[in-house]
Formats: sequence, C-alpha cells, structure tokens
Amino acid sequence: MEIPVNVKMRVYKFGNKAADGNSKMKNLLGGKGANLAEMSAIGIPVPPGFTITTEVCTEYNLLGKDAIVEMIKEEVETSIFNIENLMGTSFGDKENPLLVSVRSGARVSMPGMMDTVLNLGLNDEVVLGLAKKTNNELFAWDSYRRFIQMYGGVVLGMKPESKEDIDPFEEIMEHLKEKRGIKLDTEFTVQDLKDLVYDFKDAVKKRTGHDFPTNPWDQLWGAVIAVFNSWKGDRAVYYRKMHGYPADWGTAVNVQAMVYGNMGNNSGTGVCFTRDAGTGEDVFNGEYLINAQGEDVVAGTRTPQQITKLGSMRWAELAKVDEEDRLKNYPSLEELMPKIYSELNGYQEKLEIHYKDMQDMEFTIQDGKLWILQTRNGKRTGAAMVKIAMDMFKQGLITEKEALLRIEPSKLDELLHPVFDPKALSNAKVIAQGLPASPGAATGQIVFFADEANKYKYTILARIETSPEDLEGMNIARGILTARGGMTSHAAVVARGMGKCCISGAGALKINYKTRTLKVDDKVYHEGDWISLNGSTGNIIEGKVATSEPELSGEFAELMKLSDKYATMQVRTNADTPNDAKIARSFGAQGIGLTRTEHMFFEVDRIKAMREMILSDTVIGRKHALEILLPMQRADFEGIFEAMQGLPVTVRLLDPPLHEFVPHQLETQRSLAEDMHITLEAVKIKVAELEEFNPMLGHRGCRLGITYPEITEMQTRAVIEAALNLKERGITAKPEIMVPLIGTLTEFESQKAVIEETANKVFEERNDSIAYSIGTMIEIPRAALIANKIAEHADFFSFGTNDLTQMAFGYSRDDASKFLPIYLEKGILKVDPFEVLDQEGIGQLVEMATERGRSVKPNLKVGICGEHGGDPSSVEFCYRTGLNYVSCSPYRVPIARLASAQAAIKATL
Ligand code: ADP
Ligand code: MG
Ligand code: MG
Repeated sequence: MEIPVNVKMRVYKFGNKAADGNSKMKNLLGGKGANLAEMSAIGIPVPPGFTITTEVCTEYNLLGKDAIVEMIKEEVETSIFNIENLMGTSFGDKENPLLVSVRSGARVSMPGMMDTVLNLGLNDEVVLGLAKKTNNELFAWDSYRRFIQMYGGVVLGMKPESKEDIDPFEEIMEHLKEKRGIKLDTEFTVQDLKDLVYDFKDAVKKRTGHDFPTNPWDQLWGAVIAVFNSWKGDRAVYYRKMHGYPADWGTAVNVQAMVYGNMGNNSGTGVCFTRDAGTGEDVFNGEYLINAQGEDVVAGTRTPQQITKLGSMRWAELAKVDEEDRLKNYPSLEELMPKIYSELNGYQEKLEIHYKDMQDMEFTIQDGKLWILQTRNGKRTGAAMVKIAMDMFKQGLITEKEALLRIEPSKLDELLHPVFDPKALSNAKVIAQGLPASPGAATGQIVFFADEANKYKYTILARIETSPEDLEGMNIARGILTARGGMTSHAAVVARGMGKCCISGAGALKINYKTRTLKVDDKVYHEGDWISLNGSTGNIIEGKVATSEPELSGEFAELMKLSDKYATMQVRTNADTPNDAKIARSFGAQGIGLTRTEHMFFEVDRIKAMREMILSDTVIGRKHALEILLPMQRADFEGIFEAMQGLPVTVRLLDPPLHEFVPHQLETQRSLAEDMHITLEAVKIKVAELEEFNPMLGHRGCRLGITYPEITEMQTRAVIEAALNLKERGITAKPEIMVPLIGTLTEFESQKAVIEETANKVFEERNDSIAYSIGTMIEIPRAALIANKIAEHADFFSFGTNDLTQMAFGYSRDDASKFLPIYLEKGILKVDPFEVLDQEGIGQLVEMATERGRSVKPNLKVGICGEHGGDPSSVEFCYRTGLNYVSCSPYRVPIARLASAQAAIKATL
C-alpha cells in the first residue's frame, strides 16, 4: 500500500485563469509571484509561468547550485511543460520556440534591486525559427540581441568597469549608431542586429573567456541561480539595510512565457498607476512606448508617451510640446489604441477594487493583444499616501480604521519638512523645467555622481538618468534631477518611494559627466554650484530659495482629526522654548512632557550668570548669581505656559553635569576671571575640579539640587511665580515639577521638601496660589525597582528612556558611536536601542515600574519623554503598557498621534 507523503511544493504554477498560489502568499512566492498567481486566478490575462519559492533561495544559500538543481529539476520541467501546453510552443524548439523571462521577486518590491532576463531560450538556430514563425526577422533579431545583452549583464557579470564607462553592450550599440548615422534602437536594420549579436557574443567571449551558452536549459538554470545571487548583491543589500528588511527573506524566481512588445507598431509596453503616486490625485496615469520591450519605458532612452489623454495634455504643457506635435509624435494610448486602452482601463479599475489600494502595473501589447505582467501596491510619497488613504475611505473602498492603519507613521515625516517660502519662490530665477516626478523642496550643491553625493552638506544629484547602482547616493542627496526619463523612470519611482524631491526628464539640460557641468542654453553650471528643485512644479531654480514651516492642512489635517478619534494615549511634546511649544501645539501636542531648563542657560547673557553661580565657593555667591538668573528663567516659563494655554507643562529641574557650562578655552576663562574679579588661576582650578571621569554617572540630576538646594529653590520660584503672573492675566498654567535622576526615595523626598517649602513661601508672599504637582523621572534602574515606594510620594512618573537605556545596557551614550554601528552590522543588535525602545529588556523596567507604581497609586500619571516617544513601535509599546502619554520633539508629534491611534485600533482587532 502506498503511504501518501506531504511533499513540500517548491514550484507554483499560474496561467490560463488558474494558479497554485494567491496574493496572500507573498512570503513564499514573493510579491510579484503572489500577485501574478492572484491575477491569473481572477481572470486577468497574464502570460503563464511558475514561481520558484523564496525558501528555495534560502536553501540555495546553504546548499549551493548543484543540490538545488537536483532538488527542483523535476518540478521545473513539469512546469515548463505546462507553459508549453498553454502556449502551444516548445522550449528550445527550432520551429516553434517558447521563450521565457526569468524575473526576481522578493516579499516586498525592491524596484530595480534585482535582475530580470527576457527572451531566454534563444540561440543561433532558435532565432531563425522565431523569425520564420512570426514572419518578422527584425523582431527576432532584436529579441536575440536584447537577450544576450541582459544575460551578459545579469548572469555573466558584464557590467561597466568604471563609473565613467557605459555598459559594454551599450557602447557597441552607440558605435554602430554613430557609424550608421542613426539615433534610436528602433532604427537598426536586420543586418545591424545580426552584427550586434555577433559583436555581443564576441565581447562575452573576450571578457569571460567562455562562449555564450547555447543550450536553453543551461541558460535557464544560469538565470535562476543569478536571480538567487542578486539577493546578495550590493544593491539589494543596501536597499534591505535602508528599509530594515532581514537578509533571510530571500527572493523568489518567476519564470514566465514571453509576450512581445517589440513586434512592430501594433505592439508596445508600458507602466501605469491607478492613482497619482506623487500627489495621490485619483487619476489613472502612466507611460508607454510603441515597439518596445521590458524596461525601455523606464530606461529613459526614448521619450515615453502618456497613457491617458488628460495625462498627455498635461505632459505636453510641461514639455512645451504643441498640440500638433503631440498628436503626431506623442499621442496617448487612449487616442492611438482606444480599444486596448479601454481594456486596460477596465483592468486597472478591477485591480484597484480587488486590492483596495493604489496599483502600479506593467503591461505589454503583443500585436494588438493586451497582457498584464505585474501589479503591486504602488510606492508613493508621504503626501500621496495620506491623500489616497483618505480618498479611499471617503469613496467607501476602505473603512476609517483601515485608512488609519494604512498610513506608515514615519513617512508622515516627509510632510513635516520645510517648504519653499511662497514669497522667495516668486522672485526665484527658473532656469529650466522638467517633470514634477516627486514633490518637495530641495536646495543643494550640484554633484554628478551618486558616490559623490556626500561631497557637500546639501547636494542635488544631477544625472542624465539614474540606475539602481545610484541608490545610495540618491538617498543621501537632497534632491534628484535627471535630463532624461519620464514620470515612471527609475529616478522618479525610487525618489517617490524615498519621499525625496525629484525632477525628471528636464530635456533642456545638457549634462556632461567628463567636465562635470550642466548646461542650459548658454549658461554653464559647475559641480558645487547651488540650485533648487521644486518637485511639485518641475521648476529648476538657480541658487538657494528660502523655506518656511509646513502646515497641517487638507487631508493631512483630516487624518490627524481621525487619529484623535481613536487615540486614547495622549501625545505631548519636548519643548524648551515658547516657539517650539507653539509649533508643537499647531501639530496637536496635548501638553509638554519635558522642558529642559538647562537649555535656557546657554544663551549669551545667561551663561555668564550661570558660570558665576557654578564657580562661586559660597552659598551667598551662588545665591547672588541665581538672583540674576531668576527673572530670565521666570520669563521663559511665562512664555511657555502662555503658548500652551492651560495644557500641562512638565518642567525638569537642572540636570546636566556642571562642567558643560564652564569655559574650556583660555580666552573665555580670562574674561570670566575679569568679570568675577578673581584670578585666571582660580578659574582654571575650578574648571579642573569640575572635570569628572564619568560625567554621565557623576555630579548631575538631583545630585545638583541636593548639593546646591538654592538651585532648586530658584527654579521652583521661577515656575510658581510665572504661573501666578499668568493667573493674574487670566491664563491657566499647569506646571508639573519634575526631579531628574533619582535612584533612592530619600533623594526624591529631599528635593520634594525644597520644592514645597519654596512654593509655599511664594504663595504666602503673593497671597495667592495655583495647583501644581511634583513628580520624578524614572531613568535609573534602581528607581524602577523601587517604583512602589516612590509612587507613595510622587504625583507622576516620566520614563527617561535615554538614560534608562544607557544605564541598563551599560552603554555610554557619548561613546556608543564607537561600537554600535559595528554591533548593528554584525547583527549583535537588530536596531539602535537609543532610537527604538528595547522592549525585551528596557521594556520590562518600564512595565514593572508602571505596575509597581500603580499598585500603590492606581491613578498615577505615567509618561515617557525619551527620544523613543516619537518612534512608532515604541509608541505602540507605551500604549500596551498603559502609559498616559508619550512626549516627543515637535516635528514628531503628528507621527506619534497617528501611532497612538494605530496602537488603539490594533488592540481591538
Ligand atoms: P522589475 O522587478 O525590475 O520590475 P520585472 O521582472 O518586472 O523586473 O521585469 C522587467 C521588465 O521586463 C518589466 O518591464 C516587465 O514588464 C518585463 N517583462 C518581464 N517578464 C516579461 C514577459 N514574460 N514578457 C514580456 N515582458 C516581460
Ligand atoms: Mg529590473
Ligand atoms: Mg516589474
């Protein structure tokens, strides 16, 4: 009797309205494979094919090529047979050949990160058969030369040798074009293409020492393995690091029957989006080229045409193409092939409704028949992300909660960057215009090579076109400018994904890499010259343009309102000045979680008094200096309390080690000595005295207030008097005085006593009073351990997770840069614990202290004020732990508000 065994499937087939997989299987089939399966199953015309799973990629990394081929050979052969049946062609056949593409596809899309080979299965004999069968020699030889070019680059490693060089195959083509006096690839004759194939193969032999492989099965395995290898290539590794994707995901391999967009004028290929990926506008849009294949559209070598008539008209206006020229040379697909267009339009509607998200699709028209080759949730800018989510919610496509969950909190950051000041913009000198490929405002110095993007502090990367090799530099540059390429070019797509300002296809620019210049008409700009890009209009501007603060408006404001509907945990801000407080309020902060009083002492007129205070040996001397500081500090508090209008404000008492305030340069030491009427020597001795071996663990925090209670007295007086002054003006202030860095209960009690005594004294003097509270930071592990004892006396806790992380990990924050990057690289730590709260370890201290604190005081107010308050995953942790609020820098307030709402929604799912 046969026992059925569960054999693990490593190859999944799709095609002809059926599929082994579906869109939920992205981890196994990769995004591309899963969606090809899904599309096939819902009746979208997808060329048949199969997907080799990501697990095989991981197995390959362990076992190597031979073992893997052995393992999946049978499944692959059966799957090829399946394609042959569906297509009525045969792989490697000399009369009726099946050609395939071999495409990579990880879980998440990594545009241009990995490699694809088209037209695989051709050799000197098969090409003749293909020509005969299609009665199209030009097409057959064009496909062959493309195949050798791609296979050579991807599988045989034939890449340019240095950055000034071009692709070795492109070089051969350029040569021939020059010789023949032609400009475009489409102008090659059959003989030209035959010559190219010959020269290409020759170049392969010379560079690799081997003949170009002729056996289609050898070609297939070579390509499959190359796709697996590309997962470990530099580009892919960099992209993964940038997005924090783990290395063990692996990529799937998709093998799919070729459909040909290069069969003549009734064929073509294109890319389209169901909505605008730059602005989010709900309009179908995209680009296509007639008689073209694969990446031709995005490569930027020919000017792509628009899919819709609306898009075409808009494009013509920007490109300064008149209507006659447009209709003749650049008609939209809608105008040129109305039937195909309406079929495509039907699919885009169907797919967007099916996936309930904006889709980014690829299609090919083969001799009047439309095929869809890919769909995925499209990459988009932060602005488009917000608009699309809100629009889809209003259109009833998704629910309120889905809309909120759809937003990537940290991507809101893009909307919070400064924008060009409208006034400055109206005076700006526009030197040229390109396509508004990715909105935003960027000013920087011109560089021409991606690996020089950090040559100046702010750079604009100017390229004829970009390629995946440029990714790292594109990420560093402030903005990206290309002379060629359309709205779906590599530069445009990648920039939108990064939320980086980009102008593409600025045809008026003549970029010369050798002289490192950019020429517009007769004016020449050199490397290092300043320019500005307005990614929303496509305007390229000479010099710098002033910027102004962004605003919460439109869909962004609506989104924030919706967030507040669900968020139960509050968001406060860390603000040290009235201006910061105002900005944070405009972003929706519900209070101040941390005012660092020391920042107020660094201003010129104050630092002097501060230094006098620190350097004096007597209580009297210190009190004298503090009296000078008191009115300044009081005025600061009044400003902040006023800006917050009745919202709570947590004021932390002086925290940093005193040596940070004293002068370390001879000049300043001398002038201080004069001011204080003491000798330079005395100043030097005092400064030396303040030196500490480990200042982070030294004389700082409440230790200052305990050794010099008069500091705490002055600060308390400033807070209480400020609040009373506002009360007289009819404004409510809600001060919360916070004692930093306690490790024992007695430390807290001693400071609390000073604060209460001082406050009472002020109330008596003024014959008036206000409500205020006294709490403490929990930032020393010992404080977390005795939280129940502290809570008996403290009104609130605020976790200082920066110090808590420092002390519990034992990593000095000031020295961590020596080893943390290496830790991250080696995978000792997954993320920087100073950026993302370590939930496993530090998180326990937070949970425990909250629990212990509330065990004696159930309503104890608990918040967090470290850098982590603005990190979405940490915000979610704080919500789960039951904190009352998180506090973060003003520009992160909207991010934290959304993260707080998302945490609350996730808890109900
Ligand atoms: P990427 O992940 O970089 O987008 P793809 O695998 O999608 O790479 O393929 C690159 C290009 O080749 C795309 O334009 C795609 O539409 C095209 N292509 C891939 N497979 C086929 C095929 N079987 N027939 C025709 N064109 C294809
Ligand atoms: Mg590609
Ligand atoms: Mg693709």
